[in-house]
Amino acid sequence: MIIILKPATATAMQAKLVSQFGADHEIFTHNNRIAIQGLRPEALPTDVQAASESILTAVPAAVQSSRLFHPEDTIIKTPHSVIGGNQFVMMAGPCSVESAEHVDQMAAVAKQGGATIVRGGAFKPRTSPYSFQGLGETGLQYLRTAADKHGLDMITEVMDDEHVAMVAKYTDIFQIGARNMQNFSLLKAVGQTQIPVALKRGMSATIDDVLNAAEYIAAGGNHQIMLLERGIRTFDNKYTRNTFDLGAVPVLQSLTHYPVIVDPSHAVGTWELVTPMAMAGVAAGASGMIVEIHDQPTQALSDGPQALKPATYLKMAQQAFQLHDLMQTWA
Ligand code: PEP
Ligand code: MN
Repeated sequence: MIIILKPATATAMQAKLVSQFGADHEIFTHNNRIAIQGLRPEALPTDVQAASESILTAVPAAVQSSRLFHPEDTIIKTPHSVIGGNQFVMMAGPCSVESAEHVDQMAAVAKQGGATIVRGGAFKPRTSPYSFQGLGETGLQYLRTAADKHGLDMITEVMDDEHVAMVAKYTDIFQIGARNMQNFSLLKAVGQTQIPVALKRGMSATIDDVLNAAEYIAAGGNHQIMLLERGIRTFDNKYTRNTFDLGAVPVLQSLTHYPVIVDPSHAVGTWELVTPMAMAGVAAGASGMIVEIHDQPTQALSDGPQALKPATYLKMAQQAFQLHDLMQTWA
């Protein structure tokens, strides 16, 4: 149940409800709203009913993530970026951090294209245990150094709850990978921090699954969450690695206040398809994009086939910002 309280008495009513029901029910407040889990409206004292503008009972399980509870867009601010709302944020970099020199060069390219965030995995969730697993903490150091040198924020994947404290020493944004979207101990661990979290949609996750995964992070007290659509598994992966669920972008935006970011690279898996689907992601209304780049894709240690070469990335990024700007004039 979400109660929308009359503003004049909202604070007093929230305090009263917390003291009366807080011991037995999960309670969350936001401005003049209060969400109480597992309580029937009939159990509310009559003065609370009188102090309410409305009482919503058809409320999703992921209540804190819902627009019903938090109507305004969440805007996340990192040192060099504003993520959410009408802003468009570009995140670019190699799939994996490969060396100090390489990630430095890629950070320079990312920045040239208008990115304010450089990406790179130091802990890689590979399908095969014999594939490159990432440089670990050394990779985090290389990415941090490159980000600082070029005046960028850093995003990197944290794969394991035991690594959260270590990755937190370096990164501005935690990435939770698709394979870990329902790793609840990892979600709880990043939820205990105040570092923004980019939560990737799992390969076979429904939209409600994504929102409930986000709720695990919010339940720990970390509300700086963004959602990444990176394609899902369907029956045909012959021509695209995954199926880019563009419909999820406006659907998520209607259901949740968290920024929605698109990842065309993992969605399609082939560099020739990245630009058209990146543009489609902008047109769908995403608040930003994360894209993989590499100067020598055939030599890349992971995800080479989907990496954009610098010149292709620079052109795509310019078009993406232009399209986003154009769309703002339609609003
Ligand atoms: C990645 O970003 O390189 C990655 C492994 O992504 P995903 O978790 O979406 O597969
Ligand atoms: Mn990748």
